[in-house]
Amino acid sequence: MPEKKTTIEHYIIPFPRDTSKRVTIIGAGIIGTSIARQLLLDNPDLEIILLEKEPELGYHQSGRNSGVLHSGINQKPGSLKARFAIEGNRLIREYSKKHGVKFEQCGTIVIARNKKEEKIIKTLYEWGNKAGVPELQLLNRRELLEYEPYAQGYMALRSPTGSIIDSEGLLKQVGKEAIKLGTKLIFATTVKGVQDGRILTNRGRFDPGFLINSAGLYADKIAHTMEIGKRYTIIPFRGDYYEVEGITVNSMIYQPPDLNFPFLGVHLTKGINGGVHAGPTATLSFGREEYNKGINIKESIEMVFTPNFWRMVMSKEFINLLKNNARTSFIPRVFLEQIKSITTQEVTLDDLKPFRSGIRAQVVDFTGKLVKEFLIKVEQNRINIINAVSPGFTSSFAFAKHISRIVNTRIK
Ligand SMILES: Cc1cc2nc3c(=O)[nH]c(=O)nc-3n(C[C@H](O)[C@H](O)[C@H](O)COP(=O)(O)OP(=O)(O)OC[C@H]3O[C@@H](n4cnc5c(N)ncnc54)[C@H](O)[C@@H]3O)c2cc1C
Repeated sequence: MPEKKTTIEHYIIPFPRDTSKRVTIIGAGIIGTSIARQLLLDNPDLEIILLEKEPELGYHQSGRNSGVLHSGINQKPGSLKARFAIEGNRLIREYSKKHGVKFEQCGTIVIARNKKEEKIIKTLYEWGNKAGVPELQLLNRRELLEYEPYAQGYMALRSPTGSIIDSEGLLKQVGKEAIKLGTKLIFATTVKGVQDGRILTNRGRFDPGFLINSAGLYADKIAHTMEIGKRYTIIPFRGDYYEVEGITVNSMIYQPPDLNFPFLGVHLTKGINGGVHAGPTATLSFGREEYNKGINIKESIEMVFTPNFWRMVMSKEFINLLKNNARTSFIPRVFLEQIKSITTQEVTLDDLKPFRSGIRAQVVDFTGKLVKEFLIKVEQNRINIINAVSPGFTSSFAFAKHISRIVNTRIK
């Protein structure tokens, strides 16, 4: 009797036996698809296999975010986030113009309503200038009102390269181009891990060649099967948005961030397809993909038994995060107060319509700290992208160039 064919090769694509030019990427979010595209632009001889567990692109973070191309102002100079966000912002704007992806360079405004906030925006101004964010401006109240006639605040920081974008549209365009360049994008294929040099999926196993793990909310779990990044755990943090009816915003108006946290506070953003959006909140999610506020019992039990989780929960950082965010997340009246502190326009609870929700793949380390920097582990022919939180979307093209350089020094 012939041997039962169980490998992915046998019933999806007849992969060549020689794997010396093969790169397998796990996860077709904006990071994975941008890497696939960039690898083939830099080296068309590569065989790129991109595995995605969903039947389509954009089910998770890359299709459920604020749709903002950040300018890089909130990042510490010298960090990967600052470098990648500034370069990525420019690259994505150029790309979108060329490929007809909807975006608008409307600028980002961060307002100051008191002395403490003034100090924060001056820090952002200094960081931004040091990191190379283009054309930053400090605005007085009169100048602020010229850009945003209904903004609160007596001064503001304006970053003209901040833009809004159709994030799902960009992801789909990059996916299309990656396929055109030769990527084998395989949907409905869940990677379970890597064992004895083989990648295990729900549809069989095969030799991945060079492996890149960009699985977003599950990147830690896949890395752990390779004994990599075991000090890190992804804790899902949900973010909810409301559409705010009856108000006008010309660009994006942010409250100054707490520089100790990786999440930005509630802000008002002009939607790329019209409307004004407020959010996102930041609160724990009891499941990595529980967008409708459900509870994934298995994942919740796993999460609460993780030492990193407990260390995080006991930390001053988390208690402050909870203090600042829990009420905003759960009580619409408190959310409304946040909006009123940004705009002078009349807004009532009736004007708030639930819009979308996203869940951030936030990494927590073994001391319980929320990891703010991008986290990339490179070991031999394996790259694990464990923390690619915001501004991960903005940074994706620069991220992809960085990863491609590493791969191309290792695949001759
Ligand atoms: C609420 C929110 C707002 C944000 N706002 C912004 C913003 O305005 N600007 C910005 O720059 N960034 C923003 N971000 C961050 C940005 O969305 C992310 O940094 C970026 O999308 C990460 O991309 P990714 O490819 O790593 O992850 P994802 O988009 O989550 O992609 C990972 C992919 O891997 C797949 N996958 C997972 N596990 C497996 C498996 N086992 N096998 C196969 N496939 C698997 C998933 O299905 C998914 O498609 C925001 C994020 C959130 C949640």
